[in-house]
Amino acid sequence: MERSSGPKAGLRHTISSDLLQAAVEATRTAIIITDCAVKDDPIIYANQAFTDLTGYSAKEVLGKNCRFLQGNETDPEDIEKISQAVKARKPLQITVKNYKKDGTPFWNDLIMSPVKDKKGNITHLVGLQLDVTDRINYQEELEKSRRDLASSNKELEQFTFAASHDLQEPLRMVVSYLQLISKRYQGKLDEDADTFINFAVEGAQRMQVLVNDLLLLSRVRTKAKPFRPVDMQEVLDDVLFALQLSIADNKVTLTHDELPSVPADRTQMTQLLQNLISNAIKYKAPGRDPKIHVGVSNDKGNYTFYVKDNGIGIEPEYHERIFGVFQRLHTREEYPGNGVGLAICNKIVERHGGRLYIESVPGEGSVFYFSLPKKRKDTKSGK
Ligand code: ADP
Repeated sequence: MERSSGPKAGLRHTISSDLLQAAVEATRTAIIITDCAVKDDPIIYANQAFTDLTGYSAKEVLGKNCRFLQGNETDPEDIEKISQAVKARKPLQITVKNYKKDGTPFWNDLIMSPVKDKKGNITHLVGLQLDVTDRINYQEELEKSRRDLASSNKELEQFTFAASHDLQEPLRMVVSYLQLISKRYQGKLDEDADTFINFAVEGAQRMQVLVNDLLLLSRVRTKAKPFRPVDMQEVLDDVLFALQLSIADNKVTLTHDELPSVPADRTQMTQLLQNLISNAIKYKAPGRDPKIHVGVSNDKGNYTFYVKDNGIGIEPEYHERIFGVFQRLHTREEYPGNGVGLAICNKIVERHGGRLYIESVPGEGSVFYFSLPKKRKDTKSGK
């Protein structure tokens, strides 16, 4: 008779015990079988892979309960789970710390299943075991790096906050005394003195703005508020109200889509839209009145908002760089600013689980996109 090779027919096939024995011996998964009819569930079979993995010979293993693989650092909770499953003859999958004969620990991915006889009674337990030490070590390393990174980020944020916060007070004093000197002695000393005093006042004021912006940057996380449903249309209305003078002065035509609600920190959404729209006005092209569109597209799990302008645009090689702190493409004389605005925007979007990016044609304009998840991905505190 010809053998059927179809998948369904294959599933129905039984295999001879010789073939089964050979297959079990050949596999790289360690396998042991314990006898449930005998007290303390002794091991009655261990395949080659098991002896290779543990260093014990089959002879040393037979008759023992499988707990001989456990050691000092095996988690008592794992020991308890295994013991309960064995007692109840229940299937179990667990990754447990075990020990080889020479004392070397290894992470054992154990899958234990009850084996039934023809009448349906559980007679044996079969345990499949795989050494997953490399995977667990890698995961632990990854987790450690993640924790280190999070803690150094937090430290950096706290440092920026403390530094900028503490700098404010002495700076305020420098600025007010310089202004006092300027008021009292302007025109009373020589011409050079007037120029020097003006430079000093201007420098100190610029530093004040810089320190303030740094403080804002550090506050994206340290002073974050929890996420609530935020009507982005209302946020846009607030921003347009705040920017009304600049919009009128620069003859801006601003259009927008109907904007939806998203789970977010409302203050930060205002900050984000205001920064992007202010930039769209500030970086207008010479000889062209600014046309700005605030739009949104509805993707699967996200809304992708965008602010599109017809301004000077940005060369492709700067598309990443502009999101870094203090990164500017122009001198202060060309365009005022200190290069913190987009860094704040980027941090805000990241905190909301989204992404901020740009498409731009130099000389024609830019589109700043930011995606925001429709469902909140953040922790309870929104941090
Ligand atoms: P600032 O405006 O204070 O320089 P930002 O962080 O907001 O700082 O922007 C960083 C740089 O990105 C700007 O100096 C400018 O060169 C560029 N930029 C930002 N927005 C636009 C825009 N809408 N069009 C063209 N260039 C822009």
